Amino acid sequence: MTTVAIAVDVGGTGIKCALVDQAGEFRHVLRRPTGREQGPDAVLANILGTAEELAEAARSQGMTPVACGVVAPGVVDESAGVLHLSANLGLRDVPLRDAVADRIGLPTALGHDVRAGALAESRLGAGRTTRRMLFLAIGTGIAGGFALDGRIDPGAHGASGEIGHIAVRTGPDAPACGCGGRGCLEMYASAAAIGRAYGDDAAEVVRRAQAGEPRAAQVWSDAIGALADGLLVGIALHDPKLIVLGGGLAEAGAFLFEPLAKALAERRTFHTLPELAAAELGDEAGCHGAALLALDLLTDTKADR
Ligand SMILES: [Zn+2]
Repeated sequence: MTTVAIAVDVGGTGIKCALVDQAGEFRHVLRRPTGREQGPDAVLANILGTAEELAEAARSQGMTPVACGVVAPGVVDESAGVLHLSANLGLRDVPLRDAVADRIGLPTALGHDVRAGALAESRLGAGRTTRRMLFLAIGTGIAGGFALDGRIDPGAHGASGEIGHIAVRTGPDAPACGCGGRGCLEMYASAAAIGRAYGDDAAEVVRRAQAGEPRAAQVWSDAIGALADGLLVGIALHDPKLIVLGGGLAEAGAFLFEPLAKALAERRTFHTLPELAAAELGDEAGCHGAALLALDLLTDTKADR
C-alpha cells in the first residue's frame, strides 16, 4: 500500500495541494481558491475542507495518507503550530496545525511557505549536494531560509529568513516599506519594486534592459546592486556554500546571475563568495516542502548526506 503525505500550500489567491509519496512524487494534485475576499473564517474553512478532500482522495485511490503538512505565508510559529500574522491570508493567531490535525485525524505540521520551499530545494532541488545553502525567493516580496544539513531553522519567533526587510538604503529618499521600515531590500529588488520603479511589470523591464533600453537597464542594475547588498548580509550571517534564487525574478537566468556575481565580487571583502544557482522546483517547492515537514514528523531523521 502506497503511503502519502498530504501537502497543502496556502497562498493569497489559491491553495496548491498534492498527495506526495515517500519518493517525493506527486500522486495527485489539487487547486482550490483561498477565498480571502470571503473573510478569515472562510479561508480557514477552505484550508480544512481541502485537507479533508485530499485525505479522501488518497483513500479512494488506494493510498494511505499518513501525515499532513500545511505551509502558509506570514509569521509562523512552527513549534506551537500557530499562524500568528498573515496579511496575505487575512489571518491572525490561528492554531492552524491543531485545527487541521483535529479535522483529518493525522499528525500535522505547520510551516512557513518560503522556508518550506527552502527545505525542498535543500533536499530535492538545487541544494541537494550542498550542506549549507541560503535560499531566496524573489517575487512580489523577498524572503528566504538558510539550510544546514537539510534543515531550516525557523528562528525563535518564527521569523527567520526575512531578508527582504534588511535595510539596504538609508536616508530621507529611502522608500517606506509595508513592514514599517525604510529602504528595505524588497523595496528595490523584488519583482514588484522593479516594476514600480519603471512603470511596467518586471518581466517587461528585463526584456527592455536586455534590448539595451537605458532607463530599464538602470532600473535593473540598481535592483541587482541592492540585491547584492542584501545577499552580503546573508553571506556575513551564514557563510553559505551556495545561494539558490527562486521566484519570478530568477527566470531572468544569466541576465540576473552574471551581473549579480559581478556585483557581489565588487563588494565583498574577506568572505569567500558562494556559488549562485537557480531554484529547480519552481512553484511546486512549497508543496514538496510541506510534504517533507509532514514526513519528518513520522521519521524525525535528518536528511542523509
Ligand atoms: Zn520592510
